[in-house]
Amino acid sequence: MSQYTHVLAAVDLTEEAQQVARRAAALAQASNAKLSLVHVVEPLTFAYGGDIPVDLSEIQQQLQQQATQQLQALGDSIQVDEANRHVLTGSAVTEIHDIAEELGADLVVVGSHGRKGLALLLGSTANGVLHGARCDVLAVRVAD
Ligand code: AMP
Repeated sequence: MSQYTHVLAAVDLTEEAQQVARRAAALAQASNAKLSLVHVVEPLTFAYGGDIPVDLSEIQQQLQQQATQQLQALGDSIQVDEANRHVLTGSAVTEIHDIAEELGADLVVVGSHGRKGLALLLGSTANGVLHGARCDVLAVRVAD
C-alpha cells in the first residue's frame, strides 16, 4: 500500500484531543505526510434553535476565539504549521468531510470511545465521519 500524503486530525479540544493529535502526528511523521488539524465549532443555534430570545452571536464569537486559542496550543505542542490549523463553524461531520476533500487529505484521524448500544444507534461524530468519508478514516480508541 502506498503511504499517506496528508493526514487530517479532527479534534474536539477535550482531553482526548491530545491522544488523537499525537497519534495523527506519529502517523504523519512515519509516512512523511503533511499534517493538518481541524476543530469545528457547532453554532449555538443548532442546540437552542430560535427558542431563546437573545442574541447568541457574541457568545458564538467568544467560543470561536477560545477554540482558535486552544487549537493554537495543540498545534504548537505537536508542531503543526499555523496554516494547517483550521477552526470551522457548522456541523462537525459535514465540515470534517468538506475540509478533508478540500485539503486532499487521504487519512482522517478521529477519536472513538467504542460506544455500544444506544449511543452507537444514535451515532457519534466518529461514526458520522467514517460513513461519509471519501478517504480512509482511523478511529483512535480513547479512554473514557
Ligand atoms: P464524539 O463522537 O463526539 O465522542 O467524538 C469523537 C471524535 O470525533 C473526537 O475525538 C474527534 O476526533 C471528533 N470530533 C468530535 N467533535 C468534533 C469537533 N467539534 N470538531 C472536530 N472533531 C470533532
